[in-house]
Amino acid sequence: MLIPREIGGCLDALEQAGYEAYLVGGCVRDALLGLTPHDFDICTSALPEQTQAVFSGCRLVENGKKHGTIGVVTGAGVVEITTYRTEGGYGDCRHPDWVEFVGDLREDLERRDFTINAMAWSPARGLQDPFGGREDLKNGVLRAVGDPSRRFREDSLRILRGVRFAVRFRLTVEEETWQAMVRQAGLMDALARERVYEELCRILPLVTAEDLCRFAPILAAAVPELGPMIGFDQHSPHHAYDLFTHTAHVVAAVPEELTLRWAALLHDTGKIPCFTRDENGRGHFYGHAPRGAQIAGEVLTRLRAPTALRERAVTLIAQHMTRLEPDRKLLRRALSRLGWEGVEQLLSLQEADMISKGTGEHDASDHFTRVREALSQLRQEEACFAVRDLAVNGRDLMALGLQGADIGLCQRLLLSQVLDENLPNEKDALLGYARTWAATRG
Ligand code: ATP
Ligand code: MG
Repeated sequence: MLIPREIGGCLDALEQAGYEAYLVGGCVRDALLGLTPHDFDICTSALPEQTQAVFSGCRLVENGKKHGTIGVVTGAGVVEITTYRTEGGYGDCRHPDWVEFVGDLREDLERRDFTINAMAWSPARGLQDPFGGREDLKNGVLRAVGDPSRRFREDSLRILRGVRFAVRFRLTVEEETWQAMVRQAGLMDALARERVYEELCRILPLVTAEDLCRFAPILAAAVPELGPMIGFDQHSPHHAYDLFTHTAHVVAAVPEELTLRWAALLHDTGKIPCFTRDENGRGHFYGHAPRGAQIAGEVLTRLRAPTALRERAVTLIAQHMTRLEPDRKLLRRALSRLGWEGVEQLLSLQEADMISKGTGEHDASDHFTRVREALSQLRQEEACFAVRDLAVNGRDLMALGLQGADIGLCQRLLLSQVLDENLPNEKDALLGYARTWAATRG
């Protein structure tokens, strides 16, 4: 295993002081997979005070000391060194209720969630793998350490962590572990919503449509609004998939960007309350876009998503049925409302929605290519989409004698004329128009 000099230095220093020291967890797993680990965690038989003494010449980070962790500041960043420990449940859903330092590596590995994360390695002592993590990794299996039911009861976030590792490393979940994950998914209700949100944010950019479908019951436990979508027959000739499968395809088809992935996941939640069937038995979903936007707003508020993400996702969902057209005036309007990023996100969502119906009916359409062409033309023209882009400003309008609220009103009027291409965005033309308008205001 190739390890940075600073990390090797920490392991050596501890060993030379008479303690055991190993790399542990994610970095060992990643190295066995041939991946470059993004951080290196060390575990040791030294107690926190002893670790402090070994690294007394270094700058230390001590706020994790109660849980056994001392951070050593090195040229390669902070290296976390944690005393072998066992731990109690996660009553506050963030930190273990108690930790107990132990003398033995095996006990430390035993508290870890999955076998692939429960391996340790040191240059002096080689690989320590008491639960068969290397074999599981080789066979592509995700398996809880010990009794899965008990492990998920101790900390139900492990259920979502399991989904994340299975998705990230394309693992099959071992049967007993899988049964326990599904059976106990309801325990996640007790978790801090932020923790659930963070895990989902780590999962969403990685998933394929198949992943979302296989983990649907677990995702629905984390976001209950998804539950009724699973297996929901849309009774529509335009949809070959049930509602959740369609959603899964849309999520996987949008770019790997969080806002878009959340918008895709929740874009059709409004279909459930808006479902009706006509006399021919055909399903309809009138008003599902605004209703879905409202539901998405509630979900993302509950999960404590950042306001900017929530607001953008809600807007995208509200607009997802209002098709962007390859029409300059309409696109200028949309750009004025949503900005460039927003329009591009909306276009991605609408395109993903279109190609995820499973019927193939839109495969030959060049609609989205034409919208993109029209957009790139507008971009090259550096066109005006907002009041701040106008060739006149508030002061120019004041000079014409306009005051107070009339200034804003006039600016919006000018923008509207420019967006509709009735006026060029040029100072003289705008001032001329504004002067006439000001005259009508007396
Ligand atoms: P990543 O590459 O995503 O950081 P990781 O395996 O390093 O993956 P971390 O969350 O950094 O994951 O945790 C480090 C190690 O601590 C894990 O490999 C695992 O052994 C252990 N661990 C972390 N969280 C838990 C948990 N909730 N329950 C049990 N063990 C855990
Ligand atoms: Mg890690």
